[in-house]
Amino acid sequence: MSFTLHGLGVSGGIAIGRAMLMSHATLEVSHLTISQRMVDKEIARFDAAIKAVKGELETMKETTEHAPAELAAFIDIHTMFLEDPELVDKPRAIIRERRCNAEWALVQQMEDLVEQFEQFEDPYLRERKFDVVQVVERVIKELLGHPGRAVMKAAKGVTEEMLIVVAHDLSPADVITFKEHRFASFITDVGGATSHTAILARSLAIPSVVGMENARALIRDGEQLIVDGKRGVVIVNPDVRVLEEYQLRKNQIELEKSKLKRLKTAKSQTLDGVDVQLYANIELPGDVPGALDAGAEGIGLFRTEFLFLDRGDMPDEQEQYEAYRKVVKGMAGRPVTIRTFDLGNDKDLRPDGMSGDRVKTNPALGRRAIRLSLAEPRMFQTQLRAILRASKHGPIKLLIPMLAHAHEIDQTLAALEQAKSSLRGEKVAFDENIPVGGMIEIPAAALAIGLFLRRLDFLSVGTNDLIQYTLAIDRSDEQVSSLYDPLHPAVLMLIAHTLASAEKVNIPVSLCGEMAGDPKLTRLLLGMGLRNFSMHPSQILEVKSRVLKADVADLAPTVRRMLRLDEPGKLQEALEKLNG
Ligand code: PEP
Ligand code: MG
Repeated sequence: MSFTLHGLGVSGGIAIGRAMLMSHATLEVSHLTISQRMVDKEIARFDAAIKAVKGELETMKETTEHAPAELAAFIDIHTMFLEDPELVDKPRAIIRERRCNAEWALVQQMEDLVEQFEQFEDPYLRERKFDVVQVVERVIKELLGHPGRAVMKAAKGVTEEMLIVVAHDLSPADVITFKEHRFASFITDVGGATSHTAILARSLAIPSVVGMENARALIRDGEQLIVDGKRGVVIVNPDVRVLEEYQLRKNQIELEKSKLKRLKTAKSQTLDGVDVQLYANIELPGDVPGALDAGAEGIGLFRTEFLFLDRGDMPDEQEQYEAYRKVVKGMAGRPVTIRTFDLGNDKDLRPDGMSGDRVKTNPALGRRAIRLSLAEPRMFQTQLRAILRASKHGPIKLLIPMLAHAHEIDQTLAALEQAKSSLRGEKVAFDENIPVGGMIEIPAAALAIGLFLRRLDFLSVGTNDLIQYTLAIDRSDEQVSSLYDPLHPAVLMLIAHTLASAEKVNIPVSLCGEMAGDPKLTRLLLGMGLRNFSMHPSQILEVKSRVLKADVADLAPTVRRMLRLDEPGKLQEALEKLNG
């Protein structure tokens, strides 16, 4: 029977293949009673499994190229659990006392621990129960004779490229393992738009859908699946007609992709000779090769907070420095725009002493991003020093998120001066002239743009938030997502005002929200005067293809007229005409 499931498409493209269910090893465990003389042997078997999994994690950390710091940290957490007496000594005692098999003893202890973690008030600590389960799963798989990579059991004659992994959830370590394989796609039951699974899915660049809720329960091993990663749709057992239709679309997408690859080295210039910079947005140092592969001329937005999400502690200066240096070195002389932590709101880190316990009613309007950094001077200094130190390895620009007030800019610049002066005192080299830019994400900032232009070296328009705040639409709430409209006249007016005002005083502006990567909007933005786009690497070549066909001198007067239209229907019509 054919049916369709819906989730959240986190990485575009179409995949057609066979379902491979990732097993829940803990569910396969049965209770066996062992004889007294087998007890020592059973404990030895348990110890060997722990050792093997530790070794596996260690190898994974060492051998995975470009392993982002965040993922390495996850492996460390899992390794730490494998050294914890609660997870190592207790099951041994259970085996001895209850004369049961190692798997059963471990699952009993896991359930106990999960219960304890659930009692924690701190949501971060509560979440760690998932790490306990993931670690135990690994050990159980080892004990059951299908270690960590057991998920990769392909049926005879089926290659990895034909397999679609169906999982309840994937740990970051699983995702690293995926980097060594070539699966067609993966889909998971859980995961929202900002879950680390979704974030990492993008770096794999295979079609994937998360948040399917019960894909694992409804899909059976070996069933044929179509995954539409753009629309977040999975078709199970498609009929011949649907299959043909998708095969055709898949072929078209692949053909277009391979044609686009030829544009990688083409100069990004319009027909009338206007240079347009196409930069990449990245979340992790491991995204750098993908950015270079897409021909990115620089990094327009490095969302540093992603490096350390899901960690309980704040990374120290050295760790941050190494992450930033890796990106700068990887980009080999191309500019790298590092944004200071945009924590709070949907991306919460909760290190000691931060955030507090109060449940916030409007986190998007609360103490997030620069507001949080200024409220936590020690944390801010650590990050600023790390960024400054990395600036001696290549061109870095510093970008500040969520600015609204002049005094926030002044305080930020003072904090930067303090970091510089401490480094000078220690005779540590850095770029004295590091450019400082501000994100235009709050309507007030776009309207009072003069404050920003007088104080900063460059601006970057964050349309994701600008739309959220202009239209009062929570960008993560799917119930109002139909009202989230980049083409709302008010949004366009704010962008146009920012671009025009900055041009008058020769301050460069980039746009790094999702709008920059939408090829339908390339001509409109060019016509508005935008010359610096920053987007997810997978979008760069398509946007470049639009740039190459555009004539700015032609577009500008048409777009000016368009911006005077404040009837959405007319605007939409004009946009279609513009894209011809
Ligand atoms: C934005 O708001 O447009 C932006 C680029 O920042 P983020 O998506 O990280 O909030
Ligand atoms: Mg933002």
